[in-house]
Amino acid sequence: MQEDQRVFDVAIVGGGIGGTMLGTVLARHGVRVLLLEGSGHPRFAIGESTVPETTFGLRVLARRYDVPELEHLATNAALRRHVSSNSGVKRNFSFIYHREGEPTRPDECTQYPTWGPPLGPDSHYFRQDVDAYMFHVAVSYGVTAYTHTMVDDVKFEEDGATLVTRDRGTFRGLVRGRRRRHAGGPARAPRAATGTALPHEVAHDLHAHGGRAPLRRRGAFA
Ligand SMILES: Cc1cc2nc3c(=O)[nH]c(=O)nc-3n(C[C@H](O)[C@H](O)[C@H](O)COP(=O)(O)OP(=O)(O)OC[C@H]3O[C@@H](n4cnc5c(N)ncnc54)[C@H](O)[C@@H]3O)c2cc1C
Repeated sequence: MQEDQRVFDVAIVGGGIGGTMLGTVLARHGVRVLLLEGSGHPRFAIGESTVPETTFGLRVLARRYDVPELEHLATNAALRRHVSSNSGVKRNFSFIYHREGEPTRPDECTQYPTWGPPLGPDSHYFRQDVDAYMFHVAVSYGVTAYTHTMVDDVKFEEDGATLVTRDRGTFRGLVRGRRRRHAGGPARAPRAATGTALPHEVAHDLHAHGGRAPLRRRGAFA
């Protein structure tokens, strides 16, 4: 049986906008990231409006972690140019209490305006395009990603963790310094848990952050 002996520091379950952004930032700073996504891209996703906090936060993330692609999500013009012309402008959030057959009462309405130029406008993401874009950004920064790989279980053990997937076998993670030694040989990555055909059955040596200085102490996020 073939063994995949790549070592990862972090495994992320879910390749949506959150998982891909996290994976991108980590990979950008040398963390070896494995990302497992149960569906594929593009795929439908809900939750699309930025607010000033989102827009500003994305700019901070982009500059602090030196990932300019994140800034493409933070201005409407860049979003439409670089990510998806299907995305629109978000002008406000409105909440109105509706009484059947009655006009709206001013004291039962509220409106949360978003940013206008020059910092705005805020955006209405077409999430299926934005998420697909971020997935590819993550891969371009070195994240090892699998789509159509649903994680069914994560088992934490003394020397690491095992991610059990429905579609691609088992991913095995070890905390550095706690590798099991195989009889008669040096430390090796463990084999896949079951013996079905590759490539859908691979054993990965996920390398959790134990035994390694956190990024901040290594100065990577200075
Ligand atoms: C009705 C609604 C309106 C919203 N409106 C807004 C809004 O206007 N603005 C805003 O900022 N936010 C909004 N949100 C919130 C926003 O949608 C979420 O915060 C955002 O989508 C979370 O991103 P995520 O990447 O964490 O999760 P998701 O985008 O949900 O991605 C999770 C991914 O994980 C994958 N996955 C799940 N389980 C597994 C598994 N076991 N193994 C492998 N993969 C798995 C899924 O396939 C999916 O791709 C809204 C949410 C809802 C429900």
